Amino acid sequence: MPTYKAPLRDMRFLINEVLDYSTHYASLSNGADATPDMVDAILDGAAALCEDVLAPINLSGDAEGCTFSNGNVTTPSGFKEAYKAFVEGGWQGLSFPTEYGGQGLPMSVNVFKSEMAGTANWSFNMYPGLSIGCINTLMQYGTPAQKKLYLPPLVAGEWTGTMCLTEAQCGTDLAQVKTRAVPQADGTFKLTGTKIFISSGEHDLTDNIIHIVLARLPDAPAGTRGISLFIVPKVIVNDDGTLGARNAVNCGSIEHKMGIRASSTALLNFDDATGYMIAEENKGLEAMFTFMNTARIGTAIQGVAQAEASFQGALAYARERRSMRALSGKKEPEFAADALIWHPDVRRMLLTQKAFAFYNLNAIESVFIQTIATGKFKMVLL
Ligand SMILES: Cc1cc2nc3c(=O)[nH]c(=O)nc-3n(C[C@H](O)[C@H](O)[C@H](O)COP(=O)(O)OP(=O)(O)OC[C@H]3O[C@@H](n4cnc5c(N)ncnc54)[C@H](O)[C@@H]3O)c2cc1C
Repeated sequence: MPTYKAPLRDMRFLINEVLDYSTHYASLSNGADATPDMVDAILDGAAALCEDVLAPINLSGDAEGCTFSNGNVTTPSGFKEAYKAFVEGGWQGLSFPTEYGGQGLPMSVNVFKSEMAGTANWSFNMYPGLSIGCINTLMQYGTPAQKKLYLPPLVAGEWTGTMCLTEAQCGTDLAQVKTRAVPQADGTFKLTGTKIFISSGEHDLTDNIIHIVLARLPDAPAGTRGISLFIVPKVIVNDDGTLGARNAVNCGSIEHKMGIRASSTALLNFDDATGYMIAEENKGLEAMFTFMNTARIGTAIQGVAQAEASFQGALAYARERRSMRALSGKKEPEFAADALIWHPDVRRMLLTQKAFAFYNLNAIESVFIQTIATGKFKMVLL
């Protein structure tokens, strides 16, 4: 069975030799706490969580998958306990501001953690991963009251978040979004429509889920210029932060996928669900790009994670599987044949895999440094 070992040596080489993080962090307003010792300790802690808690439930989680019954989704065995350990370790808040309960460290520190978590168990990583986009969007566009109400539990990981764009008739072409949002006298909105393919749209890991939803006002112009953005909590949050009534957003089913089956991909029905507008009227798609840009970085991390996982699986197999003798003579005479790893072409392929995984991790981390330097992304990178 494949096991996971965090590539700490490679990561430290990247941090210290290639990208010179200590100089970089010293120049950041939130970099003072990211001392080499602190970053080292975080990498060790993240590695332990990913190797010992997340990796052991990866294959079993995929085999068992999420189950749907009566509007509820149950995650596979071990996921609730693992998520509890993740939250208790403060891992969700690693790179979010201290004013919302986070640890205020640079976002690039979190990328190392996400890469490890993603390689160990991508399905698991989707739950806290979507929350990052939700938090970034609220930080960028939420009113002070919305930030105060929703951010601390999201940053703590007590609640998770979702991105609700896709509908049956449109995924890429969001100009076709049909979900309606009708203004109410009290300043809230009633949302009606169906969203599909919503990652972490329903699950049993937290008491609440904060959906960030694209919808149209009744008099909105057609196309992308008539889309607004709304916060629709699964459970209404009272003004004092306590949980109130269940909102009218329900899971109708989950997708049956070929992989990441432990990640719940939900169909959500909004039936006059209460929503709160975020960002300006009809400028919701622009605001949603904060979420989508976060998701893009997440998808890039997924690629690196899969490259690393595939390298680690291939390396273990090449060390264990025996075939013929090495060209330079018997290496393991006690066995009928030498391990695959002795064959030069197998080594070449393994090194290629390793180089791709390492190069791409380097690329993602470099994007973060450039992002901070140029401020080109509309993400909250501190
Ligand atoms: C596992 C999973 C999780 C997901 N999670 C979420 C989520 O959390 N929230 C959410 O809102 N959605 C989610 N989605 C939906 C995802 O965003 C859509 O699948 C995606 O936007 C593509 O939309 P579509 O599937 O309708 O394909 P279509 O838009 O119908 O596109 C079909 C194909 O045509 C191509 N295409 C479309 N338009 C053009 C064009 N103009 N030029 C060239 N090629 C084009 C596309 O690239 C694609 O290959 C998820 C999907 C999956 C599979």
